[in-house]
Amino acid sequence: MKVKRIDHIGIAVKGIEQAGKFYTDILGLEIDDIEHVSDQKVNVAFLPVADSEVELLESTDSDGPVAKYLGSRGEGVQHIAFRVEDIEEALRELKEKGVRLIDQAPRKGAGGARIAFIHPKETNGVLVELCERGN
Ligand code: ZN
Repeated sequence: MKVKRIDHIGIAVKGIEQAGKFYTDILGLEIDDIEHVSDQKVNVAFLPVADSEVELLESTDSDGPVAKYLGSRGEGVQHIAFRVEDIEEALRELKEKGVRLIDQAPRKGAGGARIAFIHPKETNGVLVELCERGN
């Protein structure tokens, strides 16, 4: 597979508005867009940094994965996303190598991306997202 760059770093926060202030007021980044991803029960704020992004994730449902993450581990870095050229090829290759996946097939992520998560047991506890975008 071809990994092109770190696409974004996902940070679980209790609230985007409050947590976003550090990134906007102190670091001088800008919130590009806030999107609701119903599939994952989150609101996602994107803050571009050169060719990468910080992704702030706020839960919209106490049942969702980010709510569970906040409940067990608190706020903090939740996942790292690598942009790949071809997500289907990447998943095929990972399956061939026996790497456990959370998503067997790509699903729809924020910003029109196609995403899939690798099981954190394969990655020393880091939740890794693969992400394919149009560009
Ligand atoms: Zn992500």
